[in-house]
Amino acid sequence: MNKFVYMFDEGNGNQKELLGGKGANLAEMTRIGLPVPYGFTISTEACNAYYDTGKAIPAEIETQVLKALKNLEQKTGKRLGDSSNPLLVSVRSGAVHSMPGMMDTILNLGMNDETVVGMAELTNNARFAYDSYRRFIQMFSDVVLKVDSFYFEQLLEEVRDEKGYRSDPEMSAEDWQEVIQGYKKIVQKHARRVFPENPLEQLYLSISAVFDSWNNQRAVVYRRLQKIPGHLGTAVNIQSMVFGNMGNDSGTGVAFTRNPSTGEAKLYGEYLINAQGEDVVAGIRTPQPIVTLQNEMPEVYQQFVETCNLLEQHYQDMQDIEFTVESGKLFILQTRTGKRTAQAAIRIAVELMKDNIISKEEAILRVDPDQLNQLLHRRIDDSFKRTALAKGLPASPGAATGKVVFDADDAERIAKEEQKVILVRPETTPDDIHGIVAAEATVTSRGGMTSHAAVVARGMGKACICGCEALNIDIALKQFKVGDTVVKEGDIITIDGSTGEIFLGETPMIEPQLSDEFQLLLTWADDIRKLGVRANADNPEDAKKAIEFGASGIGLCRTEHMFMDATRIPIVQEMILADTFEDRETALSKLLPMQQEDFEGIFEVMQGHPVTIRLLDPPLHEFLPDKDELLVEVTKLQLTEPNSKKLLDKEQLLRKVRQLHEFNPMLGHRGCRLGMSYPEIYVMQAKAIFYAIAKVTAKGIDVKPEIMIPLVGHVNELKQMRQLVIHAGEQVKEEIGIKLDYLIGTMIEVPRAALTADEIAEEADFFSFGTNDLTQTTFGYSRDDAEGKFLQAYIENKVLPENPFASLDQQGVGKLVQTGVQLGRATKPNLKTGICGEHGGEKNSIQFCHNVGLDYVSCSPYRVPLARLAAAQATLENEQKQPINVLQT
Ligand code: ADP
Ligand code: MG
Ligand code: MG
Repeated sequence: MNKFVYMFDEGNGNQKELLGGKGANLAEMTRIGLPVPYGFTISTEACNAYYDTGKAIPAEIETQVLKALKNLEQKTGKRLGDSSNPLLVSVRSGAVHSMPGMMDTILNLGMNDETVVGMAELTNNARFAYDSYRRFIQMFSDVVLKVDSFYFEQLLEEVRDEKGYRSDPEMSAEDWQEVIQGYKKIVQKHARRVFPENPLEQLYLSISAVFDSWNNQRAVVYRRLQKIPGHLGTAVNIQSMVFGNMGNDSGTGVAFTRNPSTGEAKLYGEYLINAQGEDVVAGIRTPQPIVTLQNEMPEVYQQFVETCNLLEQHYQDMQDIEFTVESGKLFILQTRTGKRTAQAAIRIAVELMKDNIISKEEAILRVDPDQLNQLLHRRIDDSFKRTALAKGLPASPGAATGKVVFDADDAERIAKEEQKVILVRPETTPDDIHGIVAAEATVTSRGGMTSHAAVVARGMGKACICGCEALNIDIALKQFKVGDTVVKEGDIITIDGSTGEIFLGETPMIEPQLSDEFQLLLTWADDIRKLGVRANADNPEDAKKAIEFGASGIGLCRTEHMFMDATRIPIVQEMILADTFEDRETALSKLLPMQQEDFEGIFEVMQGHPVTIRLLDPPLHEFLPDKDELLVEVTKLQLTEPNSKKLLDKEQLLRKVRQLHEFNPMLGHRGCRLGMSYPEIYVMQAKAIFYAIAKVTAKGIDVKPEIMIPLVGHVNELKQMRQLVIHAGEQVKEEIGIKLDYLIGTMIEVPRAALTADEIAEEADFFSFGTNDLTQTTFGYSRDDAEGKFLQAYIENKVLPENPFASLDQQGVGKLVQTGVQLGRATKPNLKTGICGEHGGEKNSIQFCHNVGLDYVSCSPYRVPLARLAAAQATLENEQKQPINVLQT
């Protein structure tokens, strides 16, 4: 017989796969002697068995549940359904990876018309007993019978208003009885059945519902976002209840052992007196900060602080802890590795290392490179005079500007039109998750720092403000008011999630900087990593950023951006329109000093670090006006100014545009094919580089240029272009009589180049894998068409595991990269190799680059810190030096 059910004292913290994260940690906390209400866990294997039998609880599991229940009854001295001393339990979902709020939990199970009387007598607190009962009906009906909570909330509000109460604690036992009668009618009406009074029936229905909730929409969306596989299943925890709603010496709360927003090593949390379970996070009442518990319940507070320290030491990481105080006695209901912002992740990892709790290597592995993006975002300029419209709780840092929307669906729809939106809600629920994803930031008027919106936003690295009570939101009118100011849907606001401030309109922003802890962590990473990290930079400003963020060179300097400049484009067009070689030379000679200046600027910033310069790559028509627009212009001129010089010029331009039109520009006349047709363009660029070397070297600055020929598919292309560049070099050398030190290499970005890399290496000093184009040419996709039309469906339908333009396709494109490296090195063992596609800044691709032995990755300057960290992680994960602590989620 398979074992499907485990009492809390049978398991431990390493059994996450089997017991789910929550179950494993409940077992672990029981094992180390913490005050955890007793219970048992039905395993994830049972969940899969449930689905295998077509969503029915197999008899075998039922038997084991009954046995565990007996055990629990013995241990607690209470019985399920016993009217004189009833056992009440919670039924809690718990998957392998924590998915806060995504699945369902039911509290107070075992309540019915009889046990509620027993509870009232036993506790001598009828108010409490009936409150617990109505909560149970509401939760059970929502989760199991699929009756929307809204109906219950509505009724409750009516009763409350009718009695003239402002909040729930004012309700008496009789009031709750009245509510319960109403609740049962709601169930009858909307679920078309009577509310089940039999506790065992309640239990089995709840277990099934929790298993079912594994596949509810929000859980599925969350898993897709977090890349959690769907086959894992959820465990179900059955746990005897403790009551935070027993009176004013009771309460419930959540706390983080360190600040999840900043990482500060200080207990951080919230609680509510006389409340149960989700009340704290639901945002119905705004909770108290944890420090005030010190005054209200000093002994409980002391014990709680000690427990927090113990849990953090035990798990060696910041913990997110749920607790309940029942009549002055503390119970711990959950612990898990706390979700945190990137800023907090870094600070916590560095401080845990400094406290000798974890090693340097472990500290490096603790920070997820994907998360770092949020740190490298812009924030509101310090010089901005802050006059906030309103201020809420700073729930997740970062600044954002966008149009106000009041509904998750609107947020998604408007964001799809490439407009930035800020979602403003009284509170959010897990059903709003798609809106939070789509929005730049979320603002709520209710709820605390641990409310749903706050937790989800922090997890996604998005800015968030919660509990901004000054906002008077009217969802129906799609507007909010602060005093006399009305902000309507579509109005622009800016929010600062680090301070909780909301501003009207846009504010000036400034560039990000690295914190001291971040710098330190990165120097640890630099000591470990084998892979070099360069940046893609086309101008001195980007080059400066690259150096500031720790790049060791430029892996890709695109020269075409230098041509796009408003003052240059007319000269570039002149060059393109030239009918004779001489005319073209004249235009090019005007461009040369401009290019030279660009290169000088970059070389000076780079101070002897290598700079890979790619010669002109895009097809020439990209520098000319759009054909259709031009046609309209010409037609107009023919009517208004016939025979004018202007018309003649435009007509000539149009002819050229038509002539340069390509059927398939991506595969057209571009890259080295341009250099082959118009060698004078590449000669001009090469000379500009050489003159720049001379000029900058004369200032005593070291220069290491690497000239890169794009889009080579056959060795003969590279051979000719190499000769061209060398020849230009010799001319410059002769002219100014200095020694020129440079490399010539190529981009490997078409499959044929990778497959014949041994031949190509004969002519190349280095290879740089241009994985954007290599992905296009390997798949035969044009990126814009693919991403715009079918790629999303491919990913959703699992035709492709991921977007190959975001994360390198290791089986296909990766195989070409690997082949290219091997063949190239067979010809030239010391061939320098790198990658300069966007993949150079993505952690899994970086790991791949490490594994195939590239010398460096190159990415956007803003991703350099991420790449440094990911490169170190790749080294550590390969060496398996540091087995990852199994207790971590
Ligand atoms: P989630 O996974 O969404 O956090 P939980 O299973 O932790 O859901 O439960 C929801 C709420 O109910 C939490 O606040 C939790 O502390 C509370 N709760 C769960 N079980 C019990 C129990 N046995 N006694 C008292 N409160 C409980
Ligand atoms: Mg919980
Ligand atoms: Mg390319």
